[in-house]
Amino acid sequence: MYICPHVHLRDEEEAYKETIAHGLLVATQAGFEAVIDMPNNKRQVVNRERVRERLNLAQRAREANSKIVTEYHVHVGLTADPAQLEEAVYCYNEIPEVAGQKLFAGRSIGTLAVIKEDEQKFVFKRLTELGYKGPVVIHAEKEQYMNVGFFDPKRPITHALSRPPLAAIASVKDMIDFSGEAGFQGHLHIAHVSLPDEVYLVQQAKKQGRRISCGVTPHHFMLDESYLRSSDGLLYKMNPPLRSKEEVRELRACVLAGLVDLAENDHAVHSLEEKTNPPYFSGMPSLWMYPHFVKWLGTIGMELENEREPIDVVRFTFGNANKIFGKHGKPLVSEIRIKHTWPISNEEYPMDPRRFCVELT
Ligand SMILES: [Zn+2]
Repeated sequence: MYICPHVHLRDEEEAYKETIAHGLLVATQAGFEAVIDMPNNKRQVVNRERVRERLNLAQRAREANSKIVTEYHVHVGLTADPAQLEEAVYCYNEIPEVAGQKLFAGRSIGTLAVIKEDEQKFVFKRLTELGYKGPVVIHAEKEQYMNVGFFDPKRPITHALSRPPLAAIASVKDMIDFSGEAGFQGHLHIAHVSLPDEVYLVQQAKKQGRRISCGVTPHHFMLDESYLRSSDGLLYKMNPPLRSKEEVRELRACVLAGLVDLAENDHAVHSLEEKTNPPYFSGMPSLWMYPHFVKWLGTIGMELENEREPIDVVRFTFGNANKIFGKHGKPLVSEIRIKHTWPISNEEYPMDPRRFCVELT
């Protein structure tokens, strides 16, 4: 019933955070037909060997637990290495479960990123030369405008100052410009927009006929930066950071006006130890709470049920992702298998989600 095109199901060396098996089980329970996993793990997913290792883990998880229904897809990470870009395009063209490419235009978790402007331009130029027409998902935060030294773990709100709105907005603009200059024929997806100005840039590019979309995470438009000021502030540290009340209000209006194409979880589990001690990792788990989130969409005015199809919530939580990340003329998910979400179990979850649930009810 839902698609999440943005999860981090670490596994392997980082299985202590979460395994693919666990993530897929939670995703099934929460009602996801498909998830797309991100490549910025300790061992980056940047070539066919790594893609196959990840797909094998998902296959084994399914074989070991018949309750898992959710399909597993991956995005391949992009670097500025021409041979790797060729490999990434090969993966997309040849491996059905590869749904797109991921470009970190600023560092988030791990070292996978293409930061320099000339290298970012090169990536789009090379992908264009290689005839790539699939999606490139962008983590848009420009390092030139970040002030990472501002972060003080004793005052988690400083995280928001260290990655200010300008960093995100400038990066979205760069990505639209650089891909346009290169004549890029693929689809640009701006992940986890946190600011209305990012949405407006995407809108403007759409009007100019570009193939472009944007997504928002439940946390970026349900929560604001006041959570970073709470005693649990470090648990709400993520990239990009939570924004001001005013910005969140306007972002909600953008969603309700249909200017944001889809919801994406950016589900990223870390241990409590890592969240509250060095390295104070960014990211939070969110797959489990998705049914609550959909219910909440109704409370802010999104149409949840109607005789007519398609309604906004279906496009926002399924239809648009199904189109954008489908390939070779086919949608990502060809058959709806989950009609109802199962009762949500909070057991085994490394981070107490009740804290988040309280906000939703
Ligand atoms: Zn992410």
